[in-house]
Amino acid sequence: MINHMADVIECPHCKWKISNVHDYLEVGDMAGEFELNCESCKKPFKVDFYSVFYFATEKI
Ligand SMILES: [Zn+2]
Repeated sequence: MINHMADVIECPHCKWKISNVHDYLEVGDMAGEFELNCESCKKPFKVDFYSVFYFATEKI
């Protein structure tokens, strides 16, 4: 169940924000989930992630 979505990973225990999310993602991953131990309170939690694409077009 998703309680909160953001562009940073936020620990559900202590609300610590992990900004270096790219350290945890594989290049090319579109979506998935992984488990992480909080850098601050050291408790484990699960992260679901999704990629969002933006498209721009122009005449050629
Ligand atoms: Zn925490």
